Amino acid sequence: MEVSAKVNETKREPACPTCRAPRSPRFRPFCSARCADVDLQRWLQNRYAIPVGEDEERPDPTEIAEVARQRSQGLL
Ligand SMILES: [Zn+2]
Repeated sequence: MEVSAKVNETKREPACPTCRAPRSPRFRPFCSARCADVDLQRWLQNRYAIPVGEDEERPDPTEIAEVARQRSQGLL
């Protein structure tokens, strides 16, 4: 059926999770470095927003920087 083929094609179109634009292979799953950065900031905020006990270990800034670097390079 031609119709089902068309629907399938539309649904399989990958989209940037930040702005829903078509993603770029270079910045996947995002469309651009900017959207990847936006997602990273959101991710970091969520991380800090999680209520933790007073004795909970604080995230290591060095670790966060490393994650940011890897994400900017598309390694994560
Ligand atoms: Zn985007």
